[in-house]
Amino acid sequence: MNKKYKEIIEKAKYCLHCKNKPCSKSCPLSNNIPEFIEHIKNGNIDEAYKVLSETTIFEPICGRICPHESQCEGSYVRGIKGQSVTIGKLEAFVGDYILDSNFKNNDICKSNGKKIAIIGSGPAGLAASYLLSNNGYIVDIYEKHSKLGGLLRYGIPEFRLDKKLLDNWLETFILNDNIRIYNNKELGKDFNIEDLKQKYDYIILAFGANISNKMNIPGEEKDFVYGGNELLEYKDMPDFTGKNVVVNGGGNVAIDSAREIKKLGAKNVIIVYRRSKIEMPAERKEIKEAEKEGIEFLFKTNILEILDNKIECIKTELIQKEGENRKAPVNIEGSEFSLDVDYIVMAIGSHPNTKVIDSLELKTNKWGYLEIDENYKTSDNKIYAVGDLTGARQTVAWAARSGFECAKQIINDTH
Ligand SMILES: Cc1cc2nc3c(=O)[nH]c(=O)nc-3n(C[C@H](O)[C@H](O)[C@H](O)COP(=O)(O)OP(=O)(O)OC[C@H]3O[C@@H](n4cnc5c(N)ncnc54)[C@H](O)[C@@H]3O)c2cc1C
Ligand code: SF4
Repeated sequence: MNKKYKEIIEKAKYCLHCKNKPCSKSCPLSNNIPEFIEHIKNGNIDEAYKVLSETTIFEPICGRICPHESQCEGSYVRGIKGQSVTIGKLEAFVGDYILDSNFKNNDICKSNGKKIAIIGSGPAGLAASYLLSNNGYIVDIYEKHSKLGGLLRYGIPEFRLDKKLLDNWLETFILNDNIRIYNNKELGKDFNIEDLKQKYDYIILAFGANISNKMNIPGEEKDFVYGGNELLEYKDMPDFTGKNVVVNGGGNVAIDSAREIKKLGAKNVIIVYRRSKIEMPAERKEIKEAEKEGIEFLFKTNILEILDNKIECIKTELIQKEGENRKAPVNIEGSEFSLDVDYIVMAIGSHPNTKVIDSLELKTNKWGYLEIDENYKTSDNKIYAVGDLTGARQTVAWAARSGFECAKQIINDTH
């Protein structure tokens, strides 16, 4: 038994094997956590994999990048008492073991003649592709980029998710004879929804929501202001070497943008966030990494205006407003100050591509996301929608869950 294996078994022994499984209830995929950990404790990794494979194929990915504190580990009994437990590490260990063991998915059914088009190859589209293709459906994936993976490839930076691992995972779990890939094909540009409706039994829209929101403040149109989502997706960025950069926001995109820019040689990177550290949606471990790398934080600060080479800021206080569960940041009059900057990155949330959404002529909700019913159906009977595009909780595991559930629904409907 090697050192890593011994360490993993030690970590596994930490599990209390609770009967009511609070950790599983907080996992979007409902992974049977105590059960798979029990098999690791007994040194039986194949059995641990079997348990996980009942609910997921994302072990090496989710194990690494799920926001564990707010999902499985946050409600882990020992976790609540302040002692961290590493469900994610254990899951990734099982996933890596399978990837390293030349595993072959031999469960693929022969074609049943039904054809499905899936638009977008992020976790939601891939989860649906996996289940449908395994059940004999012919799945055509249309993806605007040259490679599969969605934000796993074109969002989450390499230093957090190794793209070779992603390729290995795609090869092992996704690609099979029932799946055909159409890369560099963009809905709304290279084809439209009517073309697909003629050709397929069903269509699953899974094209995400990766357009950066704007603050709508004066100066935001200046050419040194970037959107965090686009910056990470297209790597279309200036030379940051020796520059002062402000990143506005408190979530994953803000932290990933700031860390990427710092690694590219920026002199100072400051994350400006209008609430306090404790309210930041980003994971604690990512915030800690950013701090270690020399990224500064300005909490309880709002940006008022973008001028040439500087920004006007104001301090905020957090006030509990009636009917709201989060304290609202309110500007403190007279606390204005300015910061010198070369570049600004806006990372204050994202939305789907409204031009594409409008062209579909499907019902949307008041936030501009596609409206779906409990079975993931849009207002058109032939068209389903999954993942970030529907305004779901924006994490990989939630997107994967919607893809799996949508596929199950189509399988039920067509049997
Ligand atoms: C920088 C960043 C960091 C993140 N970090 C984490 C994290 O650590 N943990 C976590 O759980 N979640 C994280 N997330 C969120 C997570 O990545 C998303 O919730 C998840 O990827 C959504 O999956 P999806 O399949 O709905 O969409 P996406 O992953 O966005 O995939 C959509 C796919 O559709 C394609 N597409 C778009 N438009 C078209 C079109 N018109 N035609 C054809 N194809 C199209 C896109 O190229 C893409 O491949 C992060 C997000 C970002 C942006
Ligand atoms: S999928 Fe994510 S939330 Fe669920 S057990 Fe794995 S790491 Fe935890």
